[in-house]
Amino acid sequence: MLLLGAATLLLTQVVAVQAQPALPDAVQNRVDSVMPQVVEWRRDFHQHPELGNREFRTSGIIAEHLEALGMEVKTGIAHTGVVGILRGGQPGPVVALRADMDALPVEEQVDLPFASQVRTQYNGQDVGVMHACGHDNHMAILMGAASVLAGMKDELTGTVMFIFQPAEEGAPAGEEGGAELMLAEGIFADLRPDAVFGLHVWPIPAGVIAVREGGTMASSDSFTIRVQGQQTHGAAPWAGIDPIVVASQIVMGLQTIPSRQLNATTTPSIVTVGAINGGLRSNIIPDSVEMIGTLRTFDAETRTQIHERVTRTAEQIAASAGATAEVDISLGYPVTANDPGLTRAMQPTLQRVVGDRLIESPLITGAEDFSYYANEVPGMFFFLGIAADDPDMVYPNHSPYFYADERALPVGVQAMTALALDFLSSQ
Ligand SMILES: [Zn+2]
Ligand SMILES: [Zn+2]
Repeated sequence: MLLLGAATLLLTQVVAVQAQPALPDAVQNRVDSVMPQVVEWRRDFHQHPELGNREFRTSGIIAEHLEALGMEVKTGIAHTGVVGILRGGQPGPVVALRADMDALPVEEQVDLPFASQVRTQYNGQDVGVMHACGHDNHMAILMGAASVLAGMKDELTGTVMFIFQPAEEGAPAGEEGGAELMLAEGIFADLRPDAVFGLHVWPIPAGVIAVREGGTMASSDSFTIRVQGQQTHGAAPWAGIDPIVVASQIVMGLQTIPSRQLNATTTPSIVTVGAINGGLRSNIIPDSVEMIGTLRTFDAETRTQIHERVTRTAEQIAASAGATAEVDISLGYPVTANDPGLTRAMQPTLQRVVGDRLIESPLITGAEDFSYYANEVPGMFFFLGIAADDPDMVYPNHSPYFYADERALPVGVQAMTALALDFLSSQ
């Protein structure tokens, strides 16, 4: 034991002088040998995308792979979710790695030999289906990491939980799904991880990793405001209560919440009215107006405050005109917050993988249901660059032109593998 300690110390000193390799050679060799398969899986998923809660083919391929690796595999969680448990040969903590599986109702416009031709019905419409958010990459990367880690099962000091989750983009109307449902169905109750890691491909240079402590992706809640006035002739507004003017005041009033009411030095927030509906013709002031919109924040406290203030602002502006406003806020995904201690602890790991290509992520105003896992146990969610060198090929996630440069794939496999190994051995 003592001897081993001394040898390890010596080795650490030697390594510290030289550049540290991302992964020990034996592990890197395993990564290298699984990469052709990772590329193949990714292209296959890309060509056969499935919408949320409909990832039947996709989850079948994943489950088969995890079973072939000798894991305990559970399927059919939250409709199509798959969880694989890899118990290492040595005792230790539990680390969870998560990938999402769903595609989007987007018609692919990228000229690829494995471009999606898939069409389906969505909300009663015939639509194209595409992995326009890049979840095909997430799955292939995690399947690759699963191969690497399963190959070193005996040496693992703890347990790795592989989470393949459906419906990150939201379940179809009238259905539940995603991370929230996987947790409700008990995946963390059965085996509670000590940490959870996830990644998202992002249009920053291929192979760059971006991460930040604390609030990283926004909470996303939607609201409906129904302004009730009193219908009258367009030429005699005094004979009724004009809900269109009241709604206009509310739109402007809502913008003073982020700019005048919430502390602009601590955390940004967004209030967006996305639709206003009311009225039929030019000379009738209608009875009511309905507005819908979205709220984005980066911490739980601001989220609560913004809900209270949207309600108060709408109700009291309406009251000032003798109208009423009914405000409904429906909760979407919580803030995706990276545990500061965990994020700091894993920084050297990511640095070993990408060196100076590790950057601090900006705040992302989009939302992610990884937040549900990270609200349960310490979590870290990071971004993996997939942008091509050619700027004409760089498009945002959800674009029909979204393109992922496959040079990012080995970086993703290395990162997920290294995070799991380092977390397990650090506890
Ligand atoms: Zn997306
Ligand atoms: Zn996504």
